[in-house]
Amino acid sequence: MDLTFSEQETSFRDELRDWLAENPPVPRPVEGGEDAQLAWRRDWQRRLYEGGWAAPHWPVEYGGRGATPTESAIYFEEIGRARVPMAANILGLLLGGPTLMAWGTPEQKERYLEPILSAEEIWCQGFSEPDAGSDLASLKTRAVKRGEEWVVSGQKVWTSAAQHAKWCMLVARTDVDAEKHKGLTYFLMDMEQDAVQVRPLRQITGEAEFNELFIEEATIPDANVVGGAGNGWKVALTTLMNERAGLGFALQIRLRQLLDDLIAIAAERGLMADPLHADSLAELHVRCESIRLLAWKGLTDVERYGQPGPEGSLVKWLWSETNQRLTQLAVDIVGPEAMTGGTSWSYELLRARGNTIEGGTTEVLKNIVAERVLGLPRLKAAA
Ligand SMILES: Cc1cc2nc3c(=O)[nH]c(=O)nc-3n(C[C@H](O)[C@H](O)[C@H](O)COP(=O)(O)OP(=O)(O)OC[C@H]3O[C@@H](n4cnc5c(N)ncnc54)[C@H](O)[C@@H]3O)c2cc1C
Repeated sequence: MDLTFSEQETSFRDELRDWLAENPPVPRPVEGGEDAQLAWRRDWQRRLYEGGWAAPHWPVEYGGRGATPTESAIYFEEIGRARVPMAANILGLLLGGPTLMAWGTPEQKERYLEPILSAEEIWCQGFSEPDAGSDLASLKTRAVKRGEEWVVSGQKVWTSAAQHAKWCMLVARTDVDAEKHKGLTYFLMDMEQDAVQVRPLRQITGEAEFNELFIEEATIPDANVVGGAGNGWKVALTTLMNERAGLGFALQIRLRQLLDDLIAIAAERGLMADPLHADSLAELHVRCESIRLLAWKGLTDVERYGQPGPEGSLVKWLWSETNQRLTQLAVDIVGPEAMTGGTSWSYELLRARGNTIEGGTTEVLKNIVAERVLGLPRLKAAA
């Protein structure tokens, strides 16, 4: 792993830095609630799109810049450093687009990729169900073919951004007699139909980031099957691999920023002279650096082998635990403000609770690290 940038990588970084300096986002709206926040993020993504910076990691033919994994990392680092809003259609950009590029028909790519980039259409991910989270392949939502369309019924849960989404990456069971991983199909479901009811779930932070979906005979044209009927597990794995690889890099940068903010507050308040605080901050610094280097190593694997390795699970596990420790320490350093609703530190503290669940729970990630990174024997079910 060589972390020295080539000339091409340096000029990519400088071009992006210049663009960000010349195109600062408008300030975050203080009024108007979640709708105003979404409109603000949508506007920002539209400007990225117009400037050619919405998804540099996408191939040029699909509206990206064909950025190498290292350039993509530079992109996330610079975007993070500039502290700009998160793109409104993050699931479309990081998960949906790359899945369609890998599995979609030419017509699907032509129809869906551009509105993902411009944030004209927001995407959500309808995988988890009340009895199928870690064990995704046991999902029960059913899709039955009727003529040229599929009729879908079932329930999804934790569906982030579903209340804003036009399209849902939906995995449903299409063959009840096949083995559980084989009877699944991956669909693009239009969220704008009465048969799909979205019920927001309010989180501990006060915001309704995710939702329950109640699907009662929703229809999906056969043309919206991605990767062929019965092939849903493989297509879903593409989505999940992109989730861990893409988000992992962006999140470790956000972690570094939070730590820098916390160190600045500790220094301002003279707390760096206190050995207990200094020790805790130093430990977080070491963790952040380890996560950063592991994330870069993951990129090197993508460059070498064409796909992220199982080490991505280690990054996600370490990141989520470190973010929880950091936000907990912030309560000691920042004081009562960090426990007061409506402040940014209290938001970070509360939102961090979900980190060890979303995108794969820590226990499941530890199993992956044990079996696929360390080569330990597979876990056996108790007799
Ligand atoms: C903020 C947030 C956003 C989310 N967004 C989405 C989304 O947009 N779309 C979507 O489809 N899903 C989403 N999810 C759901 C997420 O992927 C699931 O919550 C996660 O996969 C865990 O599934 P579960 O909640 O059903 O828990 P379960 O799988 O039921 O797990 C319950 C407990 O059992 C443990 N466990 C389970 N299996 C094993 C095992 N084999 N070995 C050891 N321990 C085990 C788990 O670690 C956990 O502690 C989101 C979740 C969160 C928190």
